[in-house]
Amino acid sequence: MRVIIAGAAGRMGKTLLRCVAERDDCFLAGALERPDSPYVGLDAGELAGYGRAGVKVVDDANRLGEADVFIDFTQPKATLDHALFAANRRLRMVIGTTGFGERQLNELRRRLEGVPVVMAANFSLGVNLALFLIEKAAAMLDESYDIEILEMHHRHKVDAPSGTALAMGQVAAGARGKALEEAGEFVRHGIVGPRERGTIGFSVIRGGDIVGEHSTMFIGQGERLEVRHVATDRACFANGALHAASWLMHQPAGFYDMRSVLGMA
Ligand code: NAD
Repeated sequence: MRVIIAGAAGRMGKTLLRCVAERDDCFLAGALERPDSPYVGLDAGELAGYGRAGVKVVDDANRLGEADVFIDFTQPKATLDHALFAANRRLRMVIGTTGFGERQLNELRRRLEGVPVVMAANFSLGVNLALFLIEKAAAMLDESYDIEILEMHHRHKVDAPSGTALAMGQVAAGARGKALEEAGEFVRHGIVGPRERGTIGFSVIRGGDIVGEHSTMFIGQGERLEVRHVATDRACFANGALHAASWLMHQPAGFYDMRSVLGMA
């Protein structure tokens, strides 16, 4: 499987470059960065710190080599441009970029009609399995079990709660026949009164270099069940994205998520 990494000089891009080099089911066909990036022209392997890859970082998609899958962890506007390129070249696409508005998402889907695509806000296999387990637990335990979601991230993260924490809340609320908008309790300060049955509480911690931790708790009388995921290295997202890329090699056109990739749909 020949892969192109877009956003090659980013935190995820460099991790992907290293993971591609370590795996034997794929090899690097191209590395793309934004036009004013200081890393354009560098060898991708040297940029990622593992030695020469023999592939230079380019800033023009038309200079990329032949490939099977275009992997994009950049930013929404760039991903929308790349979608046109991928559709023209009939490249499968794996999209990890987050932060799309609803109109952008619709446009992305329109541009990628006819292309096999996997898009996920979190590519870690563990997080996706956690979502599955949370959905099952929320359905099996009645509302006498209070649901609380705790998430922790590094000090640079700008949004809260994380998209993954919200996804956990959504599957838990959905399993109990509710929308997160009605069940979610995002702020507690002062005299808030006793906990309301059926709500889903969120707690957020920000500090240092925490890659990402999530814990969904089901708290009953005399016991507590926790579904906890700890990401210690971005390689968990990169390897999940590469796993999705290799799954896409055998899929017809369509917009898929990690549930489909992992056979949990
Ligand atoms: P980052 O800022 O470190 O990297 C983004 C890279 O994209 C930068 O190097 C930037 O120069 C490059 N870029 C911007 N415009 C470009 C263009 N037009 N063409 C090519 N490259 C371009 O960010 P990051 O931490 O690597 O995250 C990137 C994205 O992936 C974010 O949206 C983040 O939320 C998301 N993310 C998703 C997952 C997941 O599992 N789905 C995990 C981590 C991060």
